[in-house]
Amino acid sequence: MPPISLSQRSAWTRRQAISFLMQQAVENRHVLSLAAGLVDEATLPAFECQTALQMLLSDPVRARSALQYGTTQGADGLREQLVEHFARLEGVPRSELGVGADQFLATTGSQQFLSLAAETLLDPGDICLVAAPTYFVFLGVLNGVGARAIPVTADADGMRMDALEDRLRELERSGELSRVKVIYLVSDFENPSGVCLSAERRREVVEIARRWSRERRIVILEDAAYRELRYDGEPLPSVWSCDPSHEHVVYTQTFSKSFAPGIRVGFGIAPRELVGPLCDRKGNEDFGSANLNQHLLATILASGQYASHLQQVLAGYRAKRDAMLAACDEFFADVPGVSWVHPAGGLYVWMSLPAGISTGFDSPLFSLASKRHEVMYVPGELCYPADRPDWTAPRYQMRLSFGVLHSDGIREAIRRLAGAVRDVLSSPGSAGR
Ligand code: PMP
Repeated sequence: MPPISLSQRSAWTRRQAISFLMQQAVENRHVLSLAAGLVDEATLPAFECQTALQMLLSDPVRARSALQYGTTQGADGLREQLVEHFARLEGVPRSELGVGADQFLATTGSQQFLSLAAETLLDPGDICLVAAPTYFVFLGVLNGVGARAIPVTADADGMRMDALEDRLRELERSGELSRVKVIYLVSDFENPSGVCLSAERRREVVEIARRWSRERRIVILEDAAYRELRYDGEPLPSVWSCDPSHEHVVYTQTFSKSFAPGIRVGFGIAPRELVGPLCDRKGNEDFGSANLNQHLLATILASGQYASHLQQVLAGYRAKRDAMLAACDEFFADVPGVSWVHPAGGLYVWMSLPAGISTGFDSPLFSLASKRHEVMYVPGELCYPADRPDWTAPRYQMRLSFGVLHSDGIREAIRRLAGAVRDVLSSPGSAGR
């Protein structure tokens, strides 16, 4: 029998590392996972969903409309609620927002919006500039469309604007500027590093995108997945709001982290000329996300239950973030060369080990941690684009999630991880790959 011939796209679509991590977690039941990006089960809004579904399904007209096919762009009622919700986050009255429901798309999680945006904007060989490190699933999406992810150095204030301009100048010199189509930014609490793009850089990046848009417009894709998961400090204006023309920034957000990932509702806001192409692409995929789920979320947003539930979610995650930071202080304080970021929101603590200690899947640390100490993390190298002649991804970092485990589990997991790191440090020669 001749082999099945896969498409070029399929070959580009790397097997996502997340599947490997999930499989490891299933195969090693005693392992405490700091890797899983799942949300805390205790926060899941079973009661709110039950009430809203009862309300929705007990009215035959609304029930039938929710159980019918919907539209590709998303249910009108939901998109109206999304405009209200977004205006509240932006701190402006709806009338001053500058966009209406016609520029909102409801998608199957924000992941689908990211994928639609990549499919719609990027041809094979086109360039997307990304912060290093960044969300590894989006790096997979870029691979899947044959686009090139080019890393831009980031620090405690997110992507560095001087580094971004340097990259653009290099690409201009090499004649590739016209291939630069997208700058991808996780503006709040970057996955994995937990850092936010500073207010000043938000303004600067819009100015840079505008100035370097020559033959083609450079689009900023702002992924605000963790925007509502802020535990300390004041919210920052979105990058989207720094572009009053609303021509450069495509914005996406999700209800997965702040409400329930099982509902799979996210949304995007696009410049007018992109709405049609995004919907056409979505039409090829599903001609509309699950209509019932959209009606469910619209009901929950309209009832005010979302806002009150979010307060409980924030209190829970704040306590777990604090538990993880306290455990890091307790178990890593005396391990030389280890540091970690204190995130003001999101779900992750980003830890750096001494540079010689590799954290990758094939490293001694990963196997010691998962097999002997029974704890798992996401190797930091997954969160960087592939190596380039002028750039090598760091291999000594880890993403530690405080999303799933309870505070006691978090403390125990960090204790185990510190044990694994100490073992590696005390056996010279076994640190690298
Ligand atoms: N963006 C970022 C930065 C994320 O971390 C995630 C989920 N881990 C997503 C987007 C996608 O989430 P969802 O599809 O559930 O909305």
